[in-house]
Amino acid sequence: QRPIQTLRNACEETAEVRKEIRAKDAVVHWFKMDLRTGDNRALWLASQKAQEAGVPLIGLYIVSPEDFEAHLAAPVRVDFTMRTLHVLKRDLAALDIPLYVETVSKRREIPERIVEFLEEWGVGHLFANMEYEVDELRREARLVKMCAARGIDLEVVHDTCVVPPGALKSGSGKQYSVYSPWFRAWVAHVHANPDLLNIYDPPAKNSPAQHAKVAPLFDCEIPDVPENKRLSDEDAKRLHAIWPAGEHEAMARLEKFCEEKIGQYHNRRNIPSEVGTSNISVHLAAGTLSARSAVRYARDRNKTKKLDAGLEGIKAWISEVAWRDFYKHVLVNWPYICMNKPFKPEYSNITWSYNNAHFEAWTEGRTGYPIVDAAMRQVKSIAWMHNRCRMIVASFLAKDLLLDWRMGEKFFMENLIDGDFASNNGGWGFSASVGVDPQPYFRIFNPLLQSEKFDPQGKYIRKWVPELRDCDDKEIHDPYGRKAGSKVEKRGYPKPIVVHKESRDRALAVYKEGLGRD
Ligand code: FAD
Repeated sequence: QRPIQTLRNACEETAEVRKEIRAKDAVVHWFKMDLRTGDNRALWLASQKAQEAGVPLIGLYIVSPEDFEAHLAAPVRVDFTMRTLHVLKRDLAALDIPLYVETVSKRREIPERIVEFLEEWGVGHLFANMEYEVDELRREARLVKMCAARGIDLEVVHDTCVVPPGALKSGSGKQYSVYSPWFRAWVAHVHANPDLLNIYDPPAKNSPAQHAKVAPLFDCEIPDVPENKRLSDEDAKRLHAIWPAGEHEAMARLEKFCEEKIGQYHNRRNIPSEVGTSNISVHLAAGTLSARSAVRYARDRNKTKKLDAGLEGIKAWISEVAWRDFYKHVLVNWPYICMNKPFKPEYSNITWSYNNAHFEAWTEGRTGYPIVDAAMRQVKSIAWMHNRCRMIVASFLAKDLLLDWRMGEKFFMENLIDGDFASNNGGWGFSASVGVDPQPYFRIFNPLLQSEKFDPQGKYIRKWVPELRDCDDKEIHDPYGRKAGSKVEKRGYPKPIVVHKESRDRALAVYKEGLGRD
């Protein structure tokens, strides 16, 4: 049984009891990966309920260091979350709503601690947005029952995708496993249900009497970043300047992108030396921005209300945001991808290499392939990598080095500020050809050609691989190859760790063998 069904069953089993639950002393919204006050569906519902019952609204957030570990959350991502909590607390306080933040050491204690808190404050109704990872769906199913047994109603709602998972079915009634027809269905569904792009207001202010009732909760301090996730002072200074936290920053970034860049997105999105993309993935991952707001904002700048018409740049951008929905739909329908299994079972038999020296060279940006090394150094420095380069380095790891793609998937989660299980797994599955709607296994990126095509003057390489800054525009892509001028100083830049032509042949042979093909 799919975990989402387990949650649905728990809701159905408790429906009668929950229907009878009357408002008590307060309503709580449990924040998870939805750290914003604007356009937050469950928070809006919680506010409606609190208003209707005339009771205060309380925000709750549970910090679990073990949960950060389970999600392989990068220190920079944890740091971003904790900084966001400070902004959220301030924004909620302006509405006289407290944000109560508590730490639990074990992630399995989260439901128990929530229920204790609800009982302590006489809460009748708890609201939360749904997260689609297996553990989270199962946890929420347990929590629905625990709450119902204590006379508390937990409502878990869809919010993170524009179109809720499960809403789109192919002609044969199945979940789509190919993006293009899925996207056509996604667009048609939004056109048929325009309310999906309605933006939810921030919660209403607690009245002075309600504020007084929950006053002690305003004293709650936000804990420090757990020791093992703390950034060095130097990293913190650099990364805080690049990635300011909070929903206002998210909105400002979206507005600036839509004003200045979106019109040329279709032309510029593949050039890693330029800021041609929105850089909002960190906000979508932390929930400081909703996908709904992003699509709605872009659509409102188009000449048409259609998502697949009008300006090329806007159309292209909306279809990229839709990829995020696609991968979450895939996760809900095929939850086994959470269990380290390839989407396509026939790809389980590929004989991967576990060459540590190769893996280290890849992680450290020392492969001798400048475009790969530039990208890996970009992630090391700013915890983010351009999409084109994510595809290049993933293909290089899985195909040129034949390393198990799961090593790269894990490394990304542990280092990206925008690490998102579904999108990351989808991206790796695509590039390594083991995922849903993947690149065919015999299509193997040539890093040299990718570099010449997408970074023709080597601007991106020069920025991240300073050893090569004196190379001319030709040799910078392949500093020890045929086009290289022997006199140019390479400042110790490494020689290629594999020869692409040979590793390509090897990859084709190993993939074919794994798939049992001649
Ligand atoms: P824009 O180009 O401005 O796109 C806007 C938004 O659309 C993005 O913020 C993102 O939410 C969504 N989006 C765009 N492209 C994709 C895509 N291919 N798949 C899913 N969503 C997409 N994205 C993550 O958010 N987290 C990850 O952990 C992640 N890992 C990836 C790993 C690999 C190997 C690959 C190939 C892609 C991965 N992506 C991931 C997708 C994509 O690279 C990033 O979303 C994008 O680079 C973020 O930059 P942006 O916000 O400027 O994107």
